[in-house]
Amino acid sequence: MEQEVFNNLLTLFHENKLAHAYLFETKNVEKCYQNIILLIKKILCSSKYADNCNKCAKCHLIDEGNMPSIVTIEPSGKSIKAESINNLKKAFATKPVYTTHNIYIIKYPEKMNDTSFNKMLKFLEEPEENILGFYITQNKDSVASTIVSRCELIKLTDNAKSLQGGLTEEEFASCQKLAGEYYQKLEDKTSNITWYNNTVILKELTTQEQIVCLLNLIYNTYELKFRETKDFNIIKKLKIIEKYLNELNYNMNLGLLLDSFAIEMGEANGL
Ligand SMILES: [Zn+2]
Repeated sequence: MEQEVFNNLLTLFHENKLAHAYLFETKNVEKCYQNIILLIKKILCSSKYADNCNKCAKCHLIDEGNMPSIVTIEPSGKSIKAESINNLKKAFATKPVYTTHNIYIIKYPEKMNDTSFNKMLKFLEEPEENILGFYITQNKDSVASTIVSRCELIKLTDNAKSLQGGLTEEEFASCQKLAGEYYQKLEDKTSNITWYNNTVILKELTTQEQIVCLLNLIYNTYELKFRETKDFNIIKKLKIIEKYLNELNYNMNLGLLLDSFAIEMGEANGL
């Protein structure tokens, strides 16, 4: 379902019919973000993007988050700071060098403070030919109408409802944010996950249900990655996550469980 939406966008791009800005409404912001990145890779790849393009420099730069013409903005703390918007404008002041477009992605645009919002609005009001924008929100009604009206709205329905279970919107949002970060940590071979478990995860997620949600979201990210890369090492990781989701039915010591989870995931990384 969600895949179809992105396939259509790709077709629109090739027909030169993409809008200047899209607003996605979805329960799963991280998954949508990963799909947007994949779409961008398909648009920009120098060697006709195939599954797991790890040859071309562009896809590589995008994967590393080092492509200068692609800027992701997300809240730091409770809001999106004006500084982030300033940096975006600075980055886009010049025409892109490696790509056809300058592309920005804003997660949770409703979190822009007034200053950021005004700066961003000016930017949106004068759309430039080679700038593409993607906004991702969980609820379009929380996004300022002046932004909504300047974007093409795409509603994504996915299975997130069942993932959310009995969690509140806020708890679920915090699981999603941490799942995104946790995934990065798990893939970063130098990071100390035990420390991260104790100082971040267990501070913010205190119930078993929240941890279940966290692991399910991470599972989805790996599953998506597998569909994209066909890397069989990921199957190993999916199995580990399944095992721990099962253990969560019995084991109440979340700290111990997460630490041993992190160790096994590290081993799967060849640590
Ligand atoms: Zn490529």
